[in-house]
Amino acid sequence: MTKPLLALAALSLALPTLATATPPPLTLEAQSDIVLVDDRYAYAFVEGLTTEVGPRQAGTEAEARARAWAVEWLKKNGFTNVAIEPFMMDTWVPGDIARARVTAPFAQDLVVLPLGDSAATPVGGIEAEVVFFRTVDDLRAVPDGSLKGKIAYISHAMSRTQDGSQYGFAGPARWVGAGIAASKGAVATVIKSVGTDNHRNPHTGGTSFPDGVAPIPAGALSLPDAANLERMFARAQGRPVTMRLEMNPRQIGQTESGNVVGEIVGRNPSLPPVLLACHLDSWWNAPGAFDDAAGCGIIIAAARHVASGGRPLRTIRVLLAGAEEVGLFGSTAYSKAHIGEPIAVGLESDFGADRIWRFDSNFRESNPALHKKLAAAVARFGVSSGTDVAGGGADLNIVRDQKGALIDLQQDGTRYFDLHHTPDDTLDKIDPAQLRQNVAVWTQVVGILANESTSIQTGSPIPSAPPIMEGK
Ligand SMILES: [Zn+2]
Repeated sequence: MTKPLLALAALSLALPTLATATPPPLTLEAQSDIVLVDDRYAYAFVEGLTTEVGPRQAGTEAEARARAWAVEWLKKNGFTNVAIEPFMMDTWVPGDIARARVTAPFAQDLVVLPLGDSAATPVGGIEAEVVFFRTVDDLRAVPDGSLKGKIAYISHAMSRTQDGSQYGFAGPARWVGAGIAASKGAVATVIKSVGTDNHRNPHTGGTSFPDGVAPIPAGALSLPDAANLERMFARAQGRPVTMRLEMNPRQIGQTESGNVVGEIVGRNPSLPPVLLACHLDSWWNAPGAFDDAAGCGIIIAAARHVASGGRPLRTIRVLLAGAEEVGLFGSTAYSKAHIGEPIAVGLESDFGADRIWRFDSNFRESNPALHKKLAAAVARFGVSSGTDVAGGGADLNIVRDQKGALIDLQQDGTRYFDLHHTPDDTLDKIDPAQLRQNVAVWTQVVGILANESTSIQTGSPIPSAPPIMEGK
């Protein structure tokens, strides 16, 4: 519950036009502390987007509705230069049939969903012997042609990790497994979902096929169904395990997607802006509360809170990227369109809504004073200073292309892969207190960055910067 004093302070932040009648603006520190207990933006954004739009697969009419919804929300909440920047993309849709049935030796249905870019099976499905691979490396090791006429099943042993690093360990089963199986002659692939839950929800996600390798049907089994299939192998005693798989996803050609952008215009708009990124799209089966409505809510809230404390020196630009899940099309399009406009620093939120526990930058060596200042400012929120070199998130292609400054605010990913790309990625999974901790840390960090007059990357003066314009 909010203390009355804090509620009053938050109200004064929300109504900056009354500033003349109220005490001077709060310090950034005080503001961030208030956000920790009272933020009216981030949760409201997630609640609104998941309620009024829900799943929003890239390139579809649902994603277009999400863009329109976000534009309206940004305008209503004090952003300027709000726009949709459209781009065209090759669009894949999942179809409405996804069935897997073990036909021998222990006949029963398994729960399956197609992976992004999967081919369809023939109508009525395909039935074939399943070959079991414990890992992608086991699959890589078998001779070319050895899977002719077979379905490859790929497992892995992913576990929950705070830093999400097991995604890199298990992810290849999904990212490249189908392509490798296809290149060895397989007629289809099913994988154990790349996830850590125990629900009968397959985790979808993108897969890929190398140039010159024709896509094959590729599905993900839920984790309990994958475990069941593996038990069948263990007791088949040499008998073939056969499966009938039927799915009807398809490529529908080029459709429109787009990025949504908005700004808090700084006092000196000629200085390179601070870029805050998230993605607006989700998979068709996932309401995308964690992935990534939460990230969009966090960056928007932080920008708003910084603006409430007074107009920042630099412009803060938000990028709600389209078509991230299906191949970073929005990130690529944004970089292509804006590569000539230098970005001061880029930050992305795309790892759910649980608390931030570590701060990393890529300028710890080149601008140690600023790195230390930021680290000291977030320490009171339980955020440690890391020594990893920040790489930025998927939607920050432009900053990587410009070789610019990046910050990673690492979130606790322990629960993330329970929900990732599943129907369980819903609003009730958001912990409001942890979400507010994100917003508080972001407000603190973005507030410092947006008022930094020297180069973020090096700390040196920006000679070409015209004198700072004061006031409006
Ligand atoms: Zn995401």
